[in-house]
Amino acid sequence: MIDKDKFDEWYNEIVELADLCDKRYPIKGMNIWKPYGWKIMQNIDAIIRQEMEKTGHKEVYFPLLIPEGFFKKEEEHIRGFSSEVYWVTHAGKNELEEKLLLRPTSETAMYPIFSLWIRSHADLPLKIFQIVNTFRYETKMTKAFIRVREIHFFEAHTCHTDFEDAEKQIKEDLEIAKRFFRKLCLPFIISKRPEWDKFAGAFYSIGLDVLMPSLKALQVGSIHQYKQNFSKPFEIKYEGIDGKHYYCHQTTYGMSERVLGAIVGIHGDEKGIKLPSSIAPIKVVIIPILFKGWEEKIMDECKKVKEEIEKMGLSCHIDDRDKTPGSKFYDWELKGVPLRIEIGPKDIENNVVSIATRDGIKKRIARNELEKIKDELAEYDERLYRKAEEFLRQHIYIMEKLEKKEGIIEVPWCGKEECGLKMEEELDMKSLGTPLPGKECDKNCPICGGKATTWLRLAKIY
Ligand code: ZN
Repeated sequence: MIDKDKFDEWYNEIVELADLCDKRYPIKGMNIWKPYGWKIMQNIDAIIRQEMEKTGHKEVYFPLLIPEGFFKKEEEHIRGFSSEVYWVTHAGKNELEEKLLLRPTSETAMYPIFSLWIRSHADLPLKIFQIVNTFRYETKMTKAFIRVREIHFFEAHTCHTDFEDAEKQIKEDLEIAKRFFRKLCLPFIISKRPEWDKFAGAFYSIGLDVLMPSLKALQVGSIHQYKQNFSKPFEIKYEGIDGKHYYCHQTTYGMSERVLGAIVGIHGDEKGIKLPSSIAPIKVVIIPILFKGWEEKIMDECKKVKEEIEKMGLSCHIDDRDKTPGSKFYDWELKGVPLRIEIGPKDIENNVVSIATRDGIKKRIARNELEKIKDELAEYDERLYRKAEEFLRQHIYIMEKLEKKEGIIEVPWCGKEECGLKMEEELDMKSLGTPLPGKECDKNCPICGGKATTWLRLAKIY
């Protein structure tokens, strides 16, 4: 893992060196996805699409532009987003009759339409999602994948007959998140955000956070219970079995390319990024170790091995560029390819292939046992996860008093907002919220001395 003090500089460089993005586009916070980075993001999206399909969500695509009239229907939501919204005011030289905004998120685009789609209890639950770009005018310093103004955004929206059914959805979302982040080898913590930091318009918000090597927390996902806070202003009603009309209960689940930022940051090292095999565009790279007189034999063998690996369902690439093996190793390590195979004269003579995983395990595998590569990849993923999990665990501090530490701190809390804000101030940190599932506390609040009912998690954040 990258040293804490070097992390931000390392991160800012590695995203370009590993060919993920190009930051030279002349609009701040809007970077260009390069083919390699975009492919990784597409692979991440594919995993979430699978999860959505498995859980009965349908994919939609709503327009990018939202009429001002739609946006203005939910007051708290507007207050939360008004300073970050990009407005479209003109078409050519003509001023538009109604201003349009670029979606910062899609509640206000979707919900007036949900009110047309939903008529009866038979239309519920409604479970949809989309993966689109959203726009927020960030005023803080931008950072590739972590703080951008054009966001690659996943958003799931659901409507339910009642609060309990919406709560069930939130449980399902948490299960989806667990499976999803496990495939990316990313351990995370779940916190119920404090009242003063919940999503604009939500009844409550849940944050999914990872800890970066800089010891700052990064929110990589959020789940919101809206109750009827949006369905009332947007008139999303259904006819119940009893013939009466009721407002729906709603939830959302959101994630973004921050997930990629977390993968880059948490698994990376001095040599470059390390990709979990589930999302690596190239899972196995073959490097021919050419010797005079052996060229043809070695290239033939490389092609045969590639074919066999592809038959196993793994993407494979032969690096036949006119460069030294050493410089090829360097390039692929930088780009985080999980497994490298070297094939030279000795390997052919001994009927083996030499393998090296991106985290430094080297082995020889018998030529007729290439299937073992699958196990090697699974073990590599497991090591990535374990290492990240250990790092996270080592940096969660459970304390009775306020004491400055780096990482994630859990302090007994009476539940009062003023005490929470005072803790933020004294620690110079932000509240992540209270642990989920809930955790009992029999200590006293270090600010007011009153009985603590729960724990407040705090950390420096991105
Ligand atoms: Zn207190």
